Amino acid sequence: MKAIRVRAFGPPEVMRLEEVPDPSPGRGQVLVRIRAAGVNPVETYVRSGAYARRPALPYTPGNDAAGIVEAVGDGVRGVSAGDRVYTSETVSGAYAELALCDETRVHPLPSSASYAQGAAVGVPCATAWRALFQRARAVPGETVLIHGASGGVGIAAVQIARAAGLRVFGTAGTADGIALVLRVGAHTVFDHRSEGHMEEAMAATGGRGFDVILEMLSNVNLARDLKTLAMGGRVVVIGSRGTVEIDPRDTMARDASIVGMSLFNMPDADRAVVHAALVAGLESGTLRPVIGRELPLSAAPESHVTVMSPGARGKIVLVP
Ligand code: NAP
Repeated sequence: MKAIRVRAFGPPEVMRLEEVPDPSPGRGQVLVRIRAAGVNPVETYVRSGAYARRPALPYTPGNDAAGIVEAVGDGVRGVSAGDRVYTSETVSGAYAELALCDETRVHPLPSSASYAQGAAVGVPCATAWRALFQRARAVPGETVLIHGASGGVGIAAVQIARAAGLRVFGTAGTADGIALVLRVGAHTVFDHRSEGHMEEAMAATGGRGFDVILEMLSNVNLARDLKTLAMGGRVVVIGSRGTVEIDPRDTMARDASIVGMSLFNMPDADRAVVHAALVAGLESGTLRPVIGRELPLSAAPESHVTVMSPGARGKIVLVP
C-alpha cells in the first residue's frame, strides 16, 4: 500500500509518500481501507519533533480516518468486512491507503455522512463533546463562547452545543470564517482579530459573562477569558501554543474554574460515551462536519502548512 512515512522529525517535507507492506489485523484488530484521513494540528507538532509524545521512527502520521472495513482479526465482534466506519485512533497511522486499528477505536459511520466527514470526527468532534460535557459539564440554557469556532474542533463544538440547547457564541478570524460559524449554528460571532472582541462578546451577554468558554488559543486569550466568565464559569483549555500571565483573582471573583484537557487522557469508558453521542449526532444530522479542503495523500506536506495557517474554514482531509 501507499503511505506517508516520516523517517526523521522536521519540517513538513519530511513526510514522503512510500510503498510499504500491507498490514494485517491481529487479535482484536480491524483493518480499514481508507477513503479519507483527517489532518489535525497535533500531527504537525509530532512531526516537528517538538511534542512530548514522540513515536518511534519511521512512522505514518494520523489517527482520524474513514473508510470500509477490509478485514478483522480474531475476536472482533463489533464490525465486519464491508462496514462503513470512522476511526478515533490507529495502530499503523491514518495517512495511508490502509490502517490497522484496535476494535475499540473503530466506530460506525452512518450512510448520511461522507467519508470526508467521517475523517473529521475522531479528534475534533470527540474533543468538542468531551470539552463541553465531560470537562465543562455544560447544561442546556447555559451560554458558551467557542473561542476559535471556524476550525475542526470549533465547528463541531458549535453544532453540538447548539443541538444541546446552549446559547452559542463563537469567534473566527476572517469574514469567510465568521459566515461559516454563523451558518453551522452559532447565535452570534465575533472577529478574534479585532482588539475589542471580548468587550463586544461580554456586552452580548448583557454583562453577565459566559458560563463556559472553550479556548483554542489559551496563551493569547486566557487572561481575558477569565474576566468574561459568569459566576461559576468554566474555561476549558483545549489549545495553547505558549505561556500566558493571568490574574488569579479573576477566578476568585467568580468562583471560576480553569479546566485542562487532552484527548490522550480520556479513559476508555468516557470514550465509549463520547462516540455513542457522536454517532447519534451524525445519524440525526445535528453533527455535520464541514470540509474546508480535500487534498491527495501526496500533498500531506501542504496540508500541514495549511492547517497551521490563519483562515480556517473547516476540516482539511487527505484522500488516498
Ligand atoms: P484548526 O482547524 O486549525 O482551527 C484553529 C482555530 O483556531 C481556528 O478557528 C482559528 O480561527 C482559531 N484561532 C486562530 N487565532 C485565534 C485567536 N487569536 N483566538 C482564538 N482562536 C483563534 O484546529 P483545531 O483542530 O480546531 O484545533 C484547535 C486547537 O486545539 C489546536 O491548537 C489543537 O492543537 C488543539 N486541540 C487540542 C486537543 C486536546 O485534546 N486538548 C484536541 C484537538 C485539538 P481563524 O483561522 O479563523 O483565525
